[in-house]
Amino acid sequence: MIDLKQIEIKDLVFSYDGKVNALDGVSLSIQKGDYVSIIGHNGSGKSTLAKLLIGLMEVTSGEIIIENQTLSLENVYDIRRKLAIVFQNPDNQFIGSTVRDDMAFGLENRQFEPEEMDAIIEAYARRVRMQDYLDHEPTKLSGGQKQRVAIAGVLSMKPEVLILDEATSMLDPKGRKEVNDLVHELHESREMTILSITHDIEEVIISDYIIVMNQGKVYMEGKPEDILVRIDELTEIGLDIPFNVKFYLAMKEKGVDLKTPFDVKGMVNTLWQYTSKK
Ligand code: ADP
Ligand code: MG
Repeated sequence: MIDLKQIEIKDLVFSYDGKVNALDGVSLSIQKGDYVSIIGHNGSGKSTLAKLLIGLMEVTSGEIIIENQTLSLENVYDIRRKLAIVFQNPDNQFIGSTVRDDMAFGLENRQFEPEEMDAIIEAYARRVRMQDYLDHEPTKLSGGQKQRVAIAGVLSMKPEVLILDEATSMLDPKGRKEVNDLVHELHESREMTILSITHDIEEVIISDYIIVMNQGKVYMEGKPEDILVRIDELTEIGLDIPFNVKFYLAMKEKGVDLKTPFDVKGMVNTLWQYTSKK
């Protein structure tokens, strides 16, 4: 059987100050091509995990294995090429004075002919529907546009894993939708594994797998339908339960089986049939 495990983390411990462990024995594995959501309240260690994955800091103990290679000082630059990260604040990730320049900076270390570089930039800008903004100043774009440019920039480096660390949390609903739609398209194409650290429950619902972090540990993990219905445990660590899940469970208690909380249209139909029979 082919091993589809792309990332494997074993007993990962990390401390910023040598006293408190920000990550306290995390073990998990991530399958190639999956869309994985990482949730958990502030300070649970999500960003620390992301920073360790891209080799920004050295692990205190434990192992990060990416495509069968253990991350170490020797291979950190090779491995880092496989992963790309987009952060929360869209303003902190631009160096170029135009969108085109900015994307060009990212490609600088690769040896491309100028025309080839232009074609690559155009193609990726088109992919995120920002091709008409190549000569615009990044600082003057909307939040959603900025994040799409940032995503285009990292996509042009052809990562195998895209990490989004609360990439939509500072955006307005429109910007959030623009970025989410793009992430869904990327997931559909299965070109890359997507690791999304997010508080956006609508996103969490549609991912393939959820990892719940609490106090530097994996609190629970599994498919959305198995995790999001564990209301008591989620509430215990201060996480909100999606309205549709609450509604589904409340109806179930009343004897109405809506089958799944994840198909809102289906729920409405079932409910409609039920009430019209009454
Ligand atoms: P999350 O992304 O889930 O909000 P973080 O990984 O940022 O959590 O933080 C985990 C823990 O590590 C928190 O207790 C936080 O205060 C601490 N921490 C995060 N960054 C630093 C830092 N640069 N220096 C010291 N402590 C940090
Ligand atoms: Mg964080």
